[in-house]
Amino acid sequence: MSNVAFNNIVKLHTLAGIYIHIPFCKQTCNYCNFHFTTNIKKKELFIDALKKEILSENEFIPNSECIESIYFGGGTPSLLLPSELDEILSLLHKNFKVLQGAEITLEANPDDINSVILDQWHKLGINRLSVGVQTFINEELQWMNRAHTAEHSLNCIKMINNSLINNYSVDLIFGSPLLTDEDLKKNLSIIIKNQIPHISCYALTIEKKTPFYKAVKNLQSKNIDANKQADQFLLVLDTLENNGYEQYEISNYAKPGMRSKHNSSYWQNKPYYGFGPSAHAYDGKNIRKWNVSNTSLYIQQAGNEIIFEKESLSTNQLLNEYVMTSLRTKEGIDLNIISNLYGVDYLNELKTAITKFISGGKLINNDGRIQLTREGKLFADGIAADLFF
Ligand code: SF4
Repeated sequence: MSNVAFNNIVKLHTLAGIYIHIPFCKQTCNYCNFHFTTNIKKKELFIDALKKEILSENEFIPNSECIESIYFGGGTPSLLLPSELDEILSLLHKNFKVLQGAEITLEANPDDINSVILDQWHKLGINRLSVGVQTFINEELQWMNRAHTAEHSLNCIKMINNSLINNYSVDLIFGSPLLTDEDLKKNLSIIIKNQIPHISCYALTIEKKTPFYKAVKNLQSKNIDANKQADQFLLVLDTLENNGYEQYEISNYAKPGMRSKHNSSYWQNKPYYGFGPSAHAYDGKNIRKWNVSNTSLYIQQAGNEIIFEKESLSTNQLLNEYVMTSLRTKEGIDLNIISNLYGVDYLNELKTAITKFISGGKLINNDGRIQLTREGKLFADGIAADLFF
């Protein structure tokens, strides 16, 4: 890519995000392949290592970069004590230019939420929660091996609605072998009735090395039914859109003004830093790095260069990432970005590749923005892969 293109990208990105991975969970959910450990005894050592990593970062995010979002993900960040979150947040504020009013999100599980802790989180500056509800059906929660019940979730939603943290998201999963359409309708009606501002709604996937994968392999569990999953995707889409939610990314729905700034920054190609084991970082230009996915090693090595790997993305890789992420968003692929940043040859190649999807009713060209149709959304990842350069 030319320097002009790089400079154009840099000008577009004056704001950055920070992701902090907290790798502890109470127990193993049967579908999960995130990096986590149930050995909570290592928590204090981990926090010391995390602080070392934060203090050692002085290159990846330039001093001029302002931080507009901080996201505590995991794992289960709500397992940290407020005093531990305070230590981490204070260090971030000291080391980076965190904007006043920055979005600060904490992923929390329903069984960790009560009115006292909500008040403490709010005092620390946490102004957004992402709550791992997944479903309000108790049999399904047991099947998932979640640590909470539907009653925990219903109570915690009431408590959040009565708290000073008025921006929050709920995670839902559809397409599990147990979830009937009636169950899904019940889950959605609870969301709608409680006016939950933001929903992240994911199709269950079967990942190697998970208890779910092993159970299917040993014929102890039904597998995922792809047709049922597609129908349930459309059921979610239609129900939420008919009730005032905007699907601004294929798995994310928001009430007006309640989009997640942090998630949006990933889709807008902005730089972000990632701290903690398995966390990824991107400089907003062409360098990506990721930390080791092993909490013990991370603790031993934090602060040294050994804990991460780094790669320089080629023009084609950058373009493919742009195509894949932007196609999943409501705004779609912006043809002007392709032509301004990458040149007319890439633009023409893309225009040719999209023709068959436009005539097949899966994509539309909306004034220079290539967007998925309702049917196209069922094939988003396949279409993106087909458009890769
Ligand atoms: S709580 Fe979240 S990160 Fe932990 S095992 Fe369950 S799904 Fe995975």
